[in-house]
Amino acid sequence: MTYDVINPATEKVVRSLELASVEDTDAAIARAARAFTTWRQVAPADRGRLLRRFADAVDADLENLARIEVENAGHTIGNARWEAGNVRDVLTYYSAAPERLFGRQIPVAGGIDLTFHEPLGVVGVIVPWNFPMPIAGWGFAPALAAGNTVVLKPAELTPLTAIRLGELALEAGLPPGVLEIVPGAGAVVGQRFVTHPAVRKVVFTGSTGVGKQIMAGCADQVKRVTLELGGKSANIVFADSDLAKAAAQAPAGVFDNAGQDCCARSRILVERSAYERFLELLEPAVKGFRVGDPADPSSDMGPLISARQRERVAAYTGQDVAFAGTAPEGPGFWFPPTVITPPPGSAALTDEIFGPVVAVVPFENEADALRIANDSEYGLSGSIWTRDVGRALRVGRGVEAGNLSVNSHSSVRYSTPFGGYKQSGLGRELGPDALDAFTETKNIFIAED
Ligand code: NAD
Repeated sequence: MTYDVINPATEKVVRSLELASVEDTDAAIARAARAFTTWRQVAPADRGRLLRRFADAVDADLENLARIEVENAGHTIGNARWEAGNVRDVLTYYSAAPERLFGRQIPVAGGIDLTFHEPLGVVGVIVPWNFPMPIAGWGFAPALAAGNTVVLKPAELTPLTAIRLGELALEAGLPPGVLEIVPGAGAVVGQRFVTHPAVRKVVFTGSTGVGKQIMAGCADQVKRVTLELGGKSANIVFADSDLAKAAAQAPAGVFDNAGQDCCARSRILVERSAYERFLELLEPAVKGFRVGDPADPSSDMGPLISARQRERVAAYTGQDVAFAGTAPEGPGFWFPPTVITPPPGSAALTDEIFGPVVAVVPFENEADALRIANDSEYGLSGSIWTRDVGRALRVGRGVEAGNLSVNSHSSVRYSTPFGGYKQSGLGRELGPDALDAFTETKNIFIAED
């Protein structure tokens, strides 16, 4: 079956692709399983060297990768360059891991006790369309570093950069089969990763509904699983904060990547005494957020990924719109940055909209801010704006989310752990401990006599 990849800024076909069948998927898994027998034996320093070469190949191809992402996903060129650079950096970071995958010697009676971190085998990585490059890299880089081989399924809508990364891996000298890219449908290729016994772990990033199905499917084989799912993160603004800065930075905290970001701060909670002033300051910041051709470096935001996504997003913007920015007319899945002030209980306050729509809600005090922030099945990220360090810590410890930032909106650094509380996911990616998620711990006792 062929599939037309569409440029969301023009609605024109970029490329037609053959989607993998179950048989194609099984063949890719078989190649990865064969490659595992030799990849796990590659000397740690050599495995590290190969990952650094892969990072260098990504760096040399950065402009090309970025251009492909602009065309395929409608990401702004600045974001797309950052995303390709993130793949390079994550590979570089984990290229040090093979030589540092230390076990422990634990004191016991009668002999020596050692632990080893052994690779799992073939790891299946399932990637969504919103950040095709970084999310692929967060899965494959630590998995490969730990000695696993990888089969990776990009999203149907955005397969092109993953395909290019697979080519770059081969050009860099990774043996065939070590990183297999398998473009195809979720219900075909992704589902096969879940049911195929040679795939020993599934790393899934995507919607909470599909994540639950994957977790249930993996239970059948007690297959390891990491889930990175949805979010409805709160940006909590206290009256004692630098209000002008909080308002100026709020749009980028939610509208980056057209709001199609699991970490989007899509609820802004503002202390009642500062609520009106904050909205006054927010309006010019939202109206100044430039929506346009993603290839133009002056654009802050491109289109949504698809017509379907635009319909879903539009359903949340009824009579509650406080103000909105502008977006281009004509072809392309454009949507303006939109600020809503819905009443308590609205679906817009609990559903992940995954578009450039932000709800602003007043709160009375610290306890009330925490109550509203935690009134969500999700718990991925969030921000706290205050000049009071004690309050920042108290509220930071109180918010049920995996990634928080104070007086900024940063969630992702490759050297620190990333992942969600509650229904935002299971497990953590990135950071120094990611290798644990791609290895089994083996314990061996050696008797002294
Ligand atoms: P999705 O769940 O529909 O698809 C994600 C991936 O899963 C795609 O590759 C898809 O083909 C595949 N898939 C779909 N059905 C499948 C099945 N039955 N078995 C196996 N694989 C299947 O999500 P989406 O619409 O592509 O992405 C948007 C969602 O992803 C949002 O909810 C967002 O919050 C979430 N997301 C989370 C994070 C995070 O790190 N927490 C990051 C990015 C996106």
